[in-house]
Amino acid sequence: MRATVIGAGMAGLVSARQLALAGWQVDVLERADGPRSDGYMMDFFGPGFDAAERTGLLPRLREAAYRIDAVEYVDAETGRKTAGIDYARFARAVGGRLLSLMRPDLELALLDALGDVPDGSVRVHYGARYPAPEGPDAPVDVARLLDDADVVIGADGVHSSVRRSLFGDESQFIRPMGLRAAAYVVDGEAGLHAEFDGRFVLTDTVDRQAGIYGLRDGRVAVFLAYRDDDASNPDEAPPVRLRRVFGGLWDPVDRLLDRCPPHPYDDLVAQVVLPRWHRGATVLAGDACQAVSLLAGQGASMAIAGAELLTDLLGPCRDAGAIEHALGEYERRWRPVVEEKQAAGRRAAGTFLPPDRFRLLLRRWTLRAAALPVIDSLVMRSIAGGTGLKGGTRV
Ligand SMILES: Cc1cc2nc3c(=O)[nH]c(=O)nc-3n(C[C@H](O)[C@H](O)[C@H](O)COP(=O)(O)OP(=O)(O)OC[C@H]3O[C@@H](n4cnc5c(N)ncnc54)[C@H](O)[C@@H]3O)c2cc1C
Repeated sequence: MRATVIGAGMAGLVSARQLALAGWQVDVLERADGPRSDGYMMDFFGPGFDAAERTGLLPRLREAAYRIDAVEYVDAETGRKTAGIDYARFARAVGGRLLSLMRPDLELALLDALGDVPDGSVRVHYGARYPAPEGPDAPVDVARLLDDADVVIGADGVHSSVRRSLFGDESQFIRPMGLRAAAYVVDGEAGLHAEFDGRFVLTDTVDRQAGIYGLRDGRVAVFLAYRDDDASNPDEAPPVRLRRVFGGLWDPVDRLLDRCPPHPYDDLVAQVVLPRWHRGATVLAGDACQAVSLLAGQGASMAIAGAELLTDLLGPCRDAGAIEHALGEYERRWRPVVEEKQAAGRRAAGTFLPPDRFRLLLRRWTLRAAALPVIDSLVMRSIAGGTGLKGGTRV
């Protein structure tokens, strides 16, 4: 049996590995020229953690993970700590089943895990975009790989082209959450690295939030989220826009804005909701059909868990009828889990970035109260049920 997977992100790489382990021949088409280096620190817990354990991926993910002891909120005017979260408590609230992973490290770990499959059963083609590019210079014959496949898996992210070709324009399916987020990593800032090494710092600010953390290789990662109700594509270049929104917020942020690359990760924060996830033998996986948004803090986890279920169901199929049944079953079983996480993400939308000083103080109070033993478990459980920690905190 043959599958063609579009997108070598979380859902795509896990789908490819699992199908190959079930005896399939898989081609993965990725439009980027190589593994993507842009990214952010993610809380990895929930369904994806369980799936990683079941599929034998967990040891590699543990190796790639960061150890984070605490998340600190700081007053952007004084630089002083206003509140903090003991990360070990959050880990306890999810039974210790939590990893902190940089997105590029997770992608590399999943690529490495393709070493587990029989030789030649997965081919990853970088620089190969769906739909098939016109002309003779295409790196692979995309049209042929699509024609030859028994199943095509569209794991090409929030702005999925596979989804567009199956069901139409993305405006019908993208549900904006009223925020934009950007992230990038800078090199050669030794002073900043020394200041943030081993720390995960978030600004305690109204309507916008910067997160800074020092990586183990000496680089510094920055994450920027701000309120923006306009879901259309902004005209301003990202470095200019981010400077306009975050300039003057805090000295370390200013220094990182000076180093903003021309094309950082930069997107609206959105969920994806659509009534059907497959048509014929083409099926969507990961953010393409189920994005929960960073507000739910489990997008990568859900992408991996959904891919595991999809490929568990597809793996034994040997004819078109069985495939059609497996795809229906995938939707029937997985959709309720996605809907629950999306609802948690929507609940978090109003409080992720405090809209005024009152709400900011309320969050500060909640976080301080979380240090008290009685309230601790309640607050931590509420965080674990919805957002992760490093993307903000619900009140
Ligand atoms: C700022 C931020 C913070 C986050 N924090 C967390 C967190 O704490 N915890 C968590 O679990 N999740 C988090 N997430 C979400 C998580 O990153 C995504 O949900 C997850 O990566 C989805 O995986 P995916 O495989 O579906 O898509 P992606 O990882 O986006 O992969 C899609 C792939 O498809 C490729 N592609 C796209 N179009 C085409 C095309 N036409 N042809 C070929 N290839 C194509 C892309 O280049 C990409 O490699 C966060 C997201 C953001 C933005």
